[in-house]
Amino acid sequence: MERDYLIKPMLDESYKIVSHGQGVYLFDTDGKKYMDASSGAVTCSIGHGVPEIIDAMGKQANAVSFVYRSQFSSHAAEGLAKKLSEITPGDLNWTFLVNSGSEAIETAMKTAIQYFQEQNRPQKTKIISRWMSYHGITLGALSLSGHPERRFRFQQLLESNPEVSPPYCYRCPFGLNPASCNAKCTDELETAIRRTGAEHIAAFVAEPLVGAAGAALTPPEGYYEKIRDICDRYDILLIADEVMTGIGRTGKTLAMEHWGVLPDIVALGKGMSAGYAPIAATLVSDRVMRPIQQGSKLIMSGHTYSANPQSAAASLAVLHYIEKNSLNDASAEKGKTLMKQLQKLQKKTSIIGDVRGMGLMIGIEFVTDKATKKPFSKACHLTSRIIKKAQMNGLLVYPAAAGIEGGDGDAILIAPPLTISEEELTELVRLFSKTISEIEAEII
Ligand code: PLP
Repeated sequence: MERDYLIKPMLDESYKIVSHGQGVYLFDTDGKKYMDASSGAVTCSIGHGVPEIIDAMGKQANAVSFVYRSQFSSHAAEGLAKKLSEITPGDLNWTFLVNSGSEAIETAMKTAIQYFQEQNRPQKTKIISRWMSYHGITLGALSLSGHPERRFRFQQLLESNPEVSPPYCYRCPFGLNPASCNAKCTDELETAIRRTGAEHIAAFVAEPLVGAAGAALTPPEGYYEKIRDICDRYDILLIADEVMTGIGRTGKTLAMEHWGVLPDIVALGKGMSAGYAPIAATLVSDRVMRPIQQGSKLIMSGHTYSANPQSAAASLAVLHYIEKNSLNDASAEKGKTLMKQLQKLQKKTSIIGDVRGMGLMIGIEFVTDKATKKPFSKACHLTSRIIKKAQMNGLLVYPAAAGIEGGDGDAILIAPPLTISEEELTELVRLFSKTISEIEAEII
């Protein structure tokens, strides 16, 4: 066999090569067809091969494919920033363009710290985050990430550790009901702030629904309203990491809109260009920009490819496509249908403990016993077995972490393109149901 030259995530596994994609399907070079029920890594939210996007990218490539952001801007980047300001709530009127979600988080961290520096409060540098979270793979973003498996090799280099528990209602540490708990888990943020001293803290960062590290963990009633209030009382900025949840994934442009809570800074990525080109963004509110405009007039972040015109043109075309086809509403509606079907399936199976999420971001957690919620042991490798079995059946789902943090537990995310049709949703559930039956037959 010919050796590999490309470093892939798992060196000992062979990867199929994809020849092409169309709509919600990918095709490999052996001619096998896969339904992309996770939009890759919750990214390809309008499906593959959309002519409008390809046209927009072609036009931009013909006009100019690169300008250096310290010398020039482009119509595409300017248009994208304007569009993002129009489709997001409140005064999130400023956009810093980068290339990945991790970079968007790094820029968010730096912007929050600068906001206080510009006001002669340079000691406000700490950023508080939660366990069971993922904010990116670069060292700053990884410092904030409560994802033990991705952290442990680099622990000595990480600037900080997460401090606050996530809203994990399925396994609520207080044994409370999400409808009546009054979001008790937010108390931990206040405790963490008091311990360190608000004078040292710049921001709190959270994923509105936890993605890779929690399989669509959804907060209880009132959670973000209380978080916003705590941040305001202690003069701490609220950063929403909407890299996975943003741009229609949960049924609104920003997931934070579900609770009417306005963050000060937002990180976007993934669905922003729906996978057509690498691009991500840090959105900054007028309030946060003001002291920077009046002070150093500079955000000390950026990369050679930041605000790349080609990527910006792809993203702008994706945002127009989402608007033209009302895909936020489609996500909300189709999400309800899919949730119902998966909850029905949950009743028929012995290993689906929880189905949760919003819009077309649905997490499924697996347990050995629904009554005790006992997770499968790590040694069982259930998540990777489900992913592989699904793939054999022509269905792609996304592995997520859940269960006992850093220990036993298994979960996946189902997050198909927002363009998925009703027939395709039915097919998705059929393929997933087949996969779970086969897995049950193997393990029980
Ligand atoms: N933030 C969240 C919530 C994510 O889900 C991810 C990626 O999965 C990131 C940040 C990092 O984004 P990227 O992989 O584009 O660097």
